[in-house]
Amino acid sequence: MSAPAEDCLFCGIVAGDIPAEVLHRSERSVAFADINPAAPVHVLVVPARHIESAATLEAEDAEELADLLRTAREVARQRGIADSGYRLVFNVGADANNTVAHLHLHVLGGRAMTWPPG
Ligand code: 5GP
Ligand code: ZN
Repeated sequence: MSAPAEDCLFCGIVAGDIPAEVLHRSERSVAFADINPAAPVHVLVVPARHIESAATLEAEDAEELADLLRTAREVARQRGIADSGYRLVFNVGADANNTVAHLHLHVLGGRAMTWPPG
């Protein structure tokens, strides 16, 4: 595994140096509660290895990406939203309000979502 990126908030959470409500750890991913939830269930799933964003994914990151999706499915099941439904989001860049430069998959659920998003 590559070394954590310096000053990366989510590398700090993965390493346990920064406190978070960790809900699930898989072979390659860590899932934790979003500190500012936008829905009754709002979980972030991140690769344990530092990958900057969905826009910088390379072929060599395929296992991480597959594990993120499997972990999101497991989190949805654990949090009881697998049947009611949920939204999976990768924000990229300024217009999408991407604020943390460590790839993270938002798992949002527990209420009906509007479409299109704001
Ligand atoms: P983005 O806008 O980059 O897609 O999402 C970043 C998410 O990280 C936001 O939903 C924000 O609430 C969450 N976040 C920011 N800082 C922290 C933190 O220190 N701990 C946790 N658990 N979530 C955070
Ligand atoms: Zn990182």
